Amino acid sequence: MTDLVVTGGTVVTAEGSLQADVGVTEGRISAVGSNLPRDAATETIDATGLLVLPGCVDVHTHIRLPSEEEPDRFYQDSVAAALGGTTTFLAFNNPGTGISDEGSRSLLAGLREFRARTEGESAVDFGLSAVISGRQDDPIAELPELIASGVPTAKAFMVYDFRLTDERLFAALQAMGRHGGMLQVHCENATVIDALTAEALAHGNVACRHHALTRPTYAEAEATHRAIALARAADASVYIVHLSCADALAEVATAKARGWPVYAETCPHYLTLTDDRYAAPDEAEVIKSVISPPLRTDADRQSLWLGLARGGLDLVATDHVPDRLAVEKRVPAPPFPQISNGAPGIETLLSVVYSEGVARSLISVERMVDLLSTTPAGLFGLPSKGAIEVGRDADLVLFDPAASRSIRQADLHHTSDFTPYEGRAVAGDVLQTLVRGRPAGERIGVFVERRLA
Ligand SMILES: [Zn+2]
Repeated sequence: MTDLVVTGGTVVTAEGSLQADVGVTEGRISAVGSNLPRDAATETIDATGLLVLPGCVDVHTHIRLPSEEEPDRFYQDSVAAALGGTTTFLAFNNPGTGISDEGSRSLLAGLREFRARTEGESAVDFGLSAVISGRQDDPIAELPELIASGVPTAKAFMVYDFRLTDERLFAALQAMGRHGGMLQVHCENATVIDALTAEALAHGNVACRHHALTRPTYAEAEATHRAIALARAADASVYIVHLSCADALAEVATAKARGWPVYAETCPHYLTLTDDRYAAPDEAEVIKSVISPPLRTDADRQSLWLGLARGGLDLVATDHVPDRLAVEKRVPAPPFPQISNGAPGIETLLSVVYSEGVARSLISVERMVDLLSTTPAGLFGLPSKGAIEVGRDADLVLFDPAASRSIRQADLHHTSDFTPYEGRAVAGDVLQTLVRGRPAGERIGVFVERRLA
C-alpha cells in the first residue's frame, strides 16, 4: 500500500509540469497521477499551491569530514543541504576537508577513510568524487578499482602546486575513458597565473583583490581549451568544473557543437555576483569573494545564464566550501596567495537559482529542474535520483513559489559563518524536504555507489 501521498501540488520534471499527486511506497515513488490508492495508514501531505520538485543533486562540494574537535561538521552541512532543497550531494575529499595525509596520498585509501568517517553522518544521501593530485604515488593505477568501487568521477587540477602536468592529465583522462569514469577538471593556466602572481607580489600588491586580478578569464579559457583537446586525444569525456566566464563557455560550446562529450557546470555565485565585490574598501568584505576562478564581469554573468538556457552549460553545482570569517578568512589577511579559496553555498543553491533564474524568466522551472536535479543525477551515475518518476527515490522538495524572503546568515544552518548572499531578497522558499519519503533532518543519508551510464 501507499505509505505517503503528496497531494495537490504542481509536479515539475525536466520535460514538463503537471498537476498531480505523488505516491510514495517504501521510500520510492510508486505513482504519479490522480486518485492514488490509499488506506487508513497512508499519510498525506497537502501541497496545494506548491511546486513539487525532485531534490537537488549538488555534485560539487567540499564538506569537511567530522573530526574530534568538530564531530558534527559533516552532518551539519548535510542538514543545511536538506533544508535548502538538496537531497544528494557529492563531496570531494581533497586536503583541507580533513582527510589524513595517508588518505590524500592514495585514491583507494582516501575512499576507505571517507566511507569510514562519514558513515551515519549525513541527513541526505551522498557520494564521493575523488581528487587526483600530483602528490599521490600512482593515482592512475588506482583508477580502475576506484571506479569499480562506486566512485567513477574524480577531479584533477591544472593549477595549484598539486596540479597535474599535461602528460599526467592526459593519462588520467585516458584511464577514465577506458574504465568507465569521467574526469572533472579545474581549468586555469598555471603558467599565466604563477607569472602574474609573482609580478604582483614583487610590486607589493598583496591585498585580497589581487587574487582576482592575477586570474584573468583568458587563463581559464586557455586551460579549458587544452583540457578539451587532451580529452579529445584521449578519446574520453571531460567535465569542466565551476566555469565562470564567457570565453571559457565559448570553448565548451564549440566542443559541444562538434558533438564531443564535453560537459560543464557553473555555480550560483558566478550567476549572481560580479567582480565589483573586489572594489570594496574593506578587506573583510573582499576576502569573502576570494574564490577560484574569481568573480567576473556582469557581461560574463549574463553569458552564463544564456549558456544555461541554451545548453552550453549542463548544470549548476555549488563548489561549497564552508570557510569561516573567524578562521580561514580572518583579517588581517596574509598575502593573497595564502588565503583559503572558496565560499559557502550548499544551502542557498535552489533559492538563488529559482529566484535569479526562474522568477526573472531567464530559464523555465523545468529547465531549472533539469540543471539542478535530472542532468547531475544522469551525468554522475545516480539513476535513482534526480526526477519525479515511478521507481526513483522519493527525494522531494515542496517549494512555495509565492513566498519571498531575504537570505541571512542568521537563518542558515551551514557550518560557515557568512553567506555571499547576505540581505539578498529572493522569490520562493523551500517548505519541506523529503529524503526517500522521510522528512529530512535525521542521520538517514547513506553513501551511494555510482556507475556511469
Ligand atoms: Zn571545488
